[in-house]
Amino acid sequence: MALTEGADGIWIGAQNKSYRLCENGVNYGVCNWLVPANQAHPLCSGCQFNRTVPNQSLPANRQRWQRLEEGKKRLLYTLRQLRVPLRNGWSAPRNGLLFDFIEDTRSQLHYGEAMVHTGYLDGVITINVLEADDLARETQRLQMNEPYRTVLGHMRHESGHYFWQRFASNATQLEAFRALFGDERSDYAAALDAYYASDPSPDWREHFISAYASAHPLEDWAETWGHYLHIHDALDTAAAHGLLGTDPSIMGSAKRIATWRRLSVTLNELNRSVGRGDAYPFVLNSAVEKKLSFVNRVIGQLQIQNPVKVTG
Ligand SMILES: [Zn+2]
Ligand SMILES: [Zn+2]
Repeated sequence: MALTEGADGIWIGAQNKSYRLCENGVNYGVCNWLVPANQAHPLCSGCQFNRTVPNQSLPANRQRWQRLEEGKKRLLYTLRQLRVPLRNGWSAPRNGLLFDFIEDTRSQLHYGEAMVHTGYLDGVITINVLEADDLARETQRLQMNEPYRTVLGHMRHESGHYFWQRFASNATQLEAFRALFGDERSDYAAALDAYYASDPSPDWREHFISAYASAHPLEDWAETWGHYLHIHDALDTAAAHGLLGTDPSIMGSAKRIATWRRLSVTLNELNRSVGRGDAYPFVLNSAVEKKLSFVNRVIGQLQIQNPVKVTG
C-alpha cells in the first residue's frame, strides 16, 4: 500500500483512508504496522496479541523486543494468509491467543525465575527474551546440538500447539491425528525427560522432520506445523520474486512439497556459495510428507470455521 505523509503523524492511503503508526512504533520503534486513524485502540492488530513485553528501561531489550515483534508479525501475516481462526486473547478470552516475552535470571539477575522456558500453555505462547539475543540463542543451539534455531522458528512451532487445541476437539480429526503422529495421551513429561536424557533414536530421520519431533506426538505435530508455515512463506516469497512458474496458492500439497524440495536445495547451495551454512537443514522424507499433507487438511478444516476472508 503506497502512503503519503499527512500532518500530525497521519498517513494517507488508498481511497483517502488515513492511518497512524502503532503506538509501539511511535514510542519504542519496535513496530511498523499501521492502525486506522479513527481506531480507539492505540496498538495495531499484531501488538494487541501481547500480554507481557520486555522491560524497556533496559537498553538491550529494545532490540530484543524488535526482533521478537518481527518474528511474531511474520507468523501472524502467514496465519492470516492461511485464513485460520485467529483472535487475540483480550478480545476472545475463551480461545484467543496471547504472547508473553519473558526474562529470567540469566538476563536479569534480580528476577525471581531461574529459567523461563519457551513454550505454549492454554492460549499463551511464552518466548524467553534471550531467544532474540544472537549470542545466547546460538550458544543454546550448539549446546542442544540443533541444526536450526530462530525466533521465527520458535513462533511457528508454538503456534502449532495452539492450533492443535483448536482442531483436536473434533473426534474424527483426533483419530486421524493419532494414526499418523501417535497417541498424544502418552506421558508428556516422561517423554521429554527421556528425550533430553539420551540421544534420539538413530533412525529418527526416516520418520520425523527433526530429532526433537521424535520426543512426543505433540512435538512432532508442532514441528510439522512449523515447517508447513516455513514452506508456505518461502514459496510465497519465491513466487513474489518470480522464481516459480506456478502460483503456490493453487498448488496441491504434493506439488508444493515437491517444489519446495527442489527450491530448498537451491537455497542451500546459494547459501554455501556465499560461505554460509544451509538455510534449510532438513529432509522431507515420505513420512514427513504425509504429516505435512495432514496439516494441509487441518488448515482447510480450520478455514471452514473462519469463513470471512481476512484482509490487511
Ligand atoms: Zn504494533
Ligand atoms: Zn513444542
